Formats: sequence, structure tokens, C-alpha cells
Amino acid sequence: MKFIETRGNEGKKPAKVNFSYAILNPSASFGGLYVPEYLPKLDKDFFKNAKNDNYKEFTKKILSKFEIDIDEDVINNALSLYDNFEDGKNPVPLSKIEDDLYINELYHGPTKAFKDMALQPFGYILSDLARKQKQNYLILAATSGDTGPATLDTFSNKENIKVACMYPDGGTSDVQRLQMVTMNGKNLKVLGIVGNFDDAQNALKMLLASERFRDELEKQNIKLSAANSVNFGRIIFQIIYHMYAYVSLLKKQNTHEFYSIVPSGNFGNALGAYYAKKMGLPIRKILIASNINNILSDLINKGIYDLRGRKLLKTTSPAMDILISSNVERVLYDKFGSKRCKELMDDLREKKYYELSKNELESLREDFDAIYCDDNFAKNTIKKYVNKDYIMDPHTATTLKAYENLREDSIPTIACSTAQWTKFAPTMLNAIKDDEKKYSDEVALQEFSKALHVEIPKSISELFQKDIVHDKVVEKQDIEKEILDFIKA
Ligand SMILES: *Cc1c(COP(=O)(O)O)cnc(C)c1O
Repeated sequence: MKFIETRGNEGKKPAKVNFSYAILNPSASFGGLYVPEYLPKLDKDFFKNAKNDNYKEFTKKILSKFEIDIDEDVINNALSLYDNFEDGKNPVPLSKIEDDLYINELYHGPTKAFKDMALQPFGYILSDLARKQKQNYLILAATSGDTGPATLDTFSNKENIKVACMYPDGGTSDVQRLQMVTMNGKNLKVLGIVGNFDDAQNALKMLLASERFRDELEKQNIKLSAANSVNFGRIIFQIIYHMYAYVSLLKKQNTHEFYSIVPSGNFGNALGAYYAKKMGLPIRKILIASNINNILSDLINKGIYDLRGRKLLKTTSPAMDILISSNVERVLYDKFGSKRCKELMDDLREKKYYELSKNELESLREDFDAIYCDDNFAKNTIKKYVNKDYIMDPHTATTLKAYENLREDSIPTIACSTAQWTKFAPTMLNAIKDDEKKYSDEVALQEFSKALHVEIPKSISELFQKDIVHDKVVEKQDIEKEILDFIKA
């Protein structure tokens, strides 16, 4: 299968590329993204027939439909990384918490967030390509807290790879920050940025598109790629767990369709659900959950993506504190084509907003609905389910708002759970104690775990004893220089 560009081709880059090219060079013409030329279709009984497949077998079946240019032994090795998840046989357990509500637990990987689902195999495949081409790569990552640790984990000490990871200083939890700044690896650079996630992601996009930066790297014989979900190499693995959740659901309950709820920020997880639906997964609708940074729910409800006068607000679901949501572009391309997609993206850049026509909005709403909630709702939801013996993190809690308000029928519903509670312990403790005190992560982890008799994984508790190896916090304008100094060192 070939990959094409969301904003059309400017005549410098190839018009169609292979998978390996798209993941090594994720920046497409006019600042666009790579997308598959078409989506493979699965037949009606595909999911029923998959009920004896384990996760790896199932994943191989889906990957083979995409006919990507990656050798089978490489794919096998990449998928064997799922063996390191908590339950090697099933990295993505499905838990039932209401008669018609299931939680797709995507956070059982090494860094305890759903980012591992894609970054573990993606990191292996990318490193293998670099090693075989004997080409050095710099991988950029901008993170709101979970992409960073997962990226550093997957690329740590890999040959031919260097990683520069940027996080918003003060915008992540202590655990998330420690997961990054204590990460050893000669090939890793972690930078705190004075600013928020949008600033970090903007810096990443600027560097990806900057010829000067590229030339500087070229002098050191280094090429540039990115680990954010702008990279299709992440999206391909994020299609699969939505499908596997349905296979697991069918083993518990017979149904012809289901609702999917996705707590969304950069929209990669939701895009995975959308592609899965287009390939034949019987999702009635994808319900998007946002926090009070509700730019996505405004788009889906009103047809307008509007940055004017908006400021990013800090919430207890920081991974969703985003205003510039990169993967919406891939849906716009899929529905309206590259010409219109470029027009909308140009509007956003030049006028700080774009508006869909009535027909376009209707088309978007055929697949999506959306709602947002505030921190209080999330806190109350955490408490409510703790009392029912189920622990969910603050991001997962936002999905309950959609469950309660957006469903037209009480058909089975699968909500994505995107992180383990241990990454956001102060909020968890505030929720069960119904207080507003500022706890440190370390204290909150201990107290919450004692109160509920749940274990803290060693990988989390030992973070507080580790040495801090990355202590730089820099202004936006100094990012490029910091990264070049790291490269030359
Ligand atoms: C990244 C992340 C999200 C948002 O996912 P997107 O694919 O960026 O929409 C939600 N919750 C958690 C915990 C995350 O780490």
C-alpha cells in the first residue's frame, strides 16, 4: 500500500510513498500529514472469526491487510514487545463496569499509558529501518506527559537513533516528569519548555519543517523524524486495539454494534477508531470526550474550529490539555479531500479558525458526537467508581460524561482507558477524600494505595529514588540550539 498527503503534493516530495518512507519522513507537502491511499475492508464475519486469536495474531492479520513494506521477522519482533506488558497474553484487558459499559484498558505497558500500545512496536520498527539503512536519525517528541516517557522507553540505547523530547514545564504530573528526567540513555535528550503543550508541539512542527535545522543535521549526517501521532507509524497500531476490544466484547455478549468513547487530545486514538470503523468495525458512533479545553467538542457540535481568544486551561486531565489537535486533519482529508483540507488548514493558520459547511458538519456527525466535562465531574466519577470497586484515572473518567449523555440507544459501549491511576495520584486522592489539598505525587501514591489496598508498580515507586539526569528547562527560542548542541556533543 502507498501513502499520500493530506494537503496535496507541492511537486518536491514524491506523490506516493511507502510506509517506511512515511514513518521516517512524517512531514508531508505544505505541512500536511501522510495517510493511507485507501483503507482495507474487512468482511462481515471477520471479527466473529477472530475470537480465538491472541492480540499478536490479530494484529498480524490487520497489518497484513495494509501491505506495508516491513519484513515479517521485523514485525514479529516488534509485536513480541507486547509480551512485556502486565499480561503478555492479553495486553488490553476489557473490564465490565456497567451492564452495557466496558473499559478497554490500554495502559498496561511499560510506562502505564496507552501510548505504549503504539510506541513499543513503532519504536522497534523505526530503529530497525535506521540500523539497516546505516542512517542516523533524530526523533523529536513533544509531550503533554505520556508520549515522552513512552518514546524514551522505546528508543533508549537504540543504535542509529537519538531522541529529543520536549515537555511543558509544570504541565505534567511529578510521575510523568520523573519518568522522563530520570531516563538514562546516552542517546536521549529531555527538555522542559517554558510554555504549554501546544508550544511544545508547535516547536516540533517548526523544526520538522525547517530547512535550516535540517541542513544543520545533514552536516552531522543525521535525518529527522517524529514520534508524535503526526507519524502514521503510530496510528496504524492505534486502529487495532479498537477492533480487538470488539472481539473481546463478542466473547462476553452478542451484539451487532457498539459505541466507542475516546478521551481525546491530539485525536490519534479517535482517528484509530475512525479508521477501524471505515474498515468495517461496527461502531455506531465514536463519542469524543474532552475536558474544558473543549475545542474538539465545539468542532463536532457546531462545525467551527476556533482558536480566537482561546487560552489553554490547566485541568486534572493534562494529556487532553490541547487546543491544536493534529489528527483532525486526517479526518478532514478523508471526508473532504486534499484541496478542501488544505483550505481549512490554511484558514486555521491565517485566521485562527475554520468553519465547516452545513453538509460537511453533517458528514462529520455521521461518525462522531462529542461532549466535554469539567474537573469536578471527573473527580465525582472517580469516586463513584471507586465505591463500585473500579479504579479509573482522570482521563478515563471524562468518558462517563459521554456515556451518560450522548448515547441514543443502550447498546454495548466501549470506553478507552488511557492511563493508570498511578500517573495522577494527587487527583485520585483528592477525589476519594473529597478535598482540594495539594499533595505531592509521592504522598498521594502512598495514601491512595493504602486506602484502597492497591499496589503501586515498582517502575513507578522507584522513580522517586532515581537520579535526575535531565534538568534543563529552556525558553522556546532556545530549543533549536539546545538540540543542536546535544547532537554535536
Ligand atoms: C495522549 C493521551 C490522551 C489523548 O490521546 P490522543 O490520541 O492524543 O487524542 C488521553 N489520555 C491520556 C492519558 C493520554 O496519555
